[in-house]
Amino acid sequence: MHIILLGPPGAGKGTQAKSMSESLGIVHISSGDLLRDHQVRGTELGNTARSYMQQGLLVPDELIIGMIEERIRLPDAQVGYVLDGFPRTVEQAQALEKALEDQGEAIDRVVNISVSEEELVLRLGGRWICRQCQRPYHEVNSAPRKQGVCDDCGGDLYQREDDVPEAVSRRIKVFAEQTAPLIRYYREKGNLVGVDGEGSIEAVRESLLSAVA
Ligand code: AMP
Repeated sequence: MHIILLGPPGAGKGTQAKSMSESLGIVHISSGDLLRDHQVRGTELGNTARSYMQQGLLVPDELIIGMIEERIRLPDAQVGYVLDGFPRTVEQAQALEKALEDQGEAIDRVVNISVSEEELVLRLGGRWICRQCQRPYHEVNSAPRKQGVCDDCGGDLYQREDDVPEAVSRRIKVFAEQTAPLIRYYREKGNLVGVDGEGSIEAVRESLLSAVA
């Protein structure tokens, strides 16, 4: 099973991809988490990606494509995966298709999660993330039991540098300009399903699971 979750920053892709991967027994692959991990490890890719990410801009296609191609070839990914944050451009989508074709595979389903811009700004402004397991929280909508501490693993919670207002509006604009064309791209291929991302986490989860069933 190969699933792509499309949607603007703050649509809930990370939360939902994690939960879907657990329900379906497939791997969750987040391009943003992979890049943040490269930064923590101080790799060349991590260092190059940092300034793009801080500004809310896309990291160049050739860097991202190589990183994802490598990730989907690892043995654990052979059971299938849900991609969160990739592809974000038509060029990335074409490269992914080619990589899958080379493995004799294809994308099974693309789910577009839609959320209004107003709601995205509210969500990203109050977002806190676990440094250890990447679980996201929201200071109003889904606060941790103990402030600053992850309910699941006890890790420290932090706010992403690109969740500051200026980067948030840039990311929403970048989505509209560079990533939204993918909605049409996949609709024309016939494997796109739309899901309303404004319900509760549980309601969106149910809609997503039926969308890929
Ligand atoms: P995310 O965690 O998905 O919100 O991604 C955080 C940041 O990482 C984005 O704003 C981009 O700077 C970068 N990034 C993640 N995925 C991609 C991608 N597929 N293409 C280009 N840049 C990406």
